[in-house]
Amino acid sequence: MAVREAEPIAVEEARRRCFEWASPREVVRVPLVEAVGCYLARGPELPEDVPPFDRSLKDGYAVRAADTAGASDGTPVSLIVIEEVAAGGWPTRTVEPGTAVRTMTGAPVAPGADAVVPLENVRLPEGSAGREGDRIELVIPARAGDEIQRRGDDLPKGSSPVGAGERLGPREAAVLATAGVLEVEVVRRLRVAVLSTGDELLSGPGPLRPGQIRNSNGPMLAAMMRMEGWDVRDLGQCSDRVESVVQAVHGALESGDVVVTTGAVSVGDYDVVPHAMERLGMKLLFQKVAIRPGKPMTVGVKDDRIWFALPGNPASTFVTAHLFLLPTLRKMAGARVWDALRTIAVLKGRPSEGPIPLTRYWRARVWLEAGRAVVDAGREQLSAAISSFLGANALVEVPPGEDPRVGEAVAVWWLDVPPAPIGY
Ligand code: AMP
Ligand code: MG
Repeated sequence: MAVREAEPIAVEEARRRCFEWASPREVVRVPLVEAVGCYLARGPELPEDVPPFDRSLKDGYAVRAADTAGASDGTPVSLIVIEEVAAGGWPTRTVEPGTAVRTMTGAPVAPGADAVVPLENVRLPEGSAGREGDRIELVIPARAGDEIQRRGDDLPKGSSPVGAGERLGPREAAVLATAGVLEVEVVRRLRVAVLSTGDELLSGPGPLRPGQIRNSNGPMLAAMMRMEGWDVRDLGQCSDRVESVVQAVHGALESGDVVVTTGAVSVGDYDVVPHAMERLGMKLLFQKVAIRPGKPMTVGVKDDRIWFALPGNPASTFVTAHLFLLPTLRKMAGARVWDALRTIAVLKGRPSEGPIPLTRYWRARVWLEAGRAVVDAGREQLSAAISSFLGANALVEVPPGEDPRVGEAVAVWWLDVPPAPIGY
């Protein structure tokens, strides 16, 4: 049996040990859309200007702004239409004084022109359809640059608008695709296995035997990690025997990066996980954290594999997964910023319990009220209460010995927002 540390370590120290250990997995080159959810290993340099040519933002006429000076209702400027260009076409004529090129939205602006006048600002004289060979009349002066998107104005060639460590989502896919980046280098998806320990658990369908409860930690963890974009294998459940745990975890450690178990990590009669860790030669990063819920949480590592042994109470699993598991794994997946966002909020409601010498985390709901973050933790905080997850988009962090009152400012972890502000 591994020697248990006498005292639990502080939350921040435990997190620091995890992050210090974690390093990104291998880099792979994959088609853009297959990389969704992965973190970029390198911020690609854009190979093309966006847009790739000066293009019209409106259906209208490409003109020389100088020609239109002084145009008004009473003194219209008359131009002759020398060509028509649609999106996908290319102009063959140059706009000389007194001429215009009919130019549709997205079409290239003909050389010589420095403005596009929208169709609705153009008057057609008697008999003119505004097409090639026709005359048009302008009644408002155009300014150079009007309705033209210049080549490279949106995204210049050679720039790297999406950096290493950023997560590839729909916005990044659009930005890279538009500049001709069809493949990206990302850190490969993590391979994670989830195992729920407990003789009392039922993971599949069917009626409960007396004394059984349904496995909720397995589905919760699998859901959390699938939403992060990782390959998650749910190993279901195993019984509270060292052998069963060793057997189930052994293979998962061979074939994956991460094993997450829940339960059997405390000091009860059937808490076999510490023994299984020792049997598998895991080195312990820590073996108890000064936290509620989740105190018996233990993390072991071996080579480049990591085993998170989360306590089995559903709220303990929930809290420790958010504070330790997800950020550590995001770092392994290549994220530059791996933590959830932490802010200060005004406490609107709180549970009835007194201070303790551990860091407490209350499941809570955070929202904005008149521009200020407010948070309500006035719900059941029992670690066995799964109903407390409903609507819980935040954790209120209460330092050891403290006991914030309603109306006071508290530290809050936002669980449902992206891990970093724009421009971090
Ligand atoms: P343990 O950490 O194994 O001592 O479990 C603590 C409590 O959480 C016990 O009441 C277990 O029945 C319960 N529990 C453990 N694992 C799960 C699970 N996967 N789903 C739901 N409840 C669980
Ligand atoms: Mg158990």
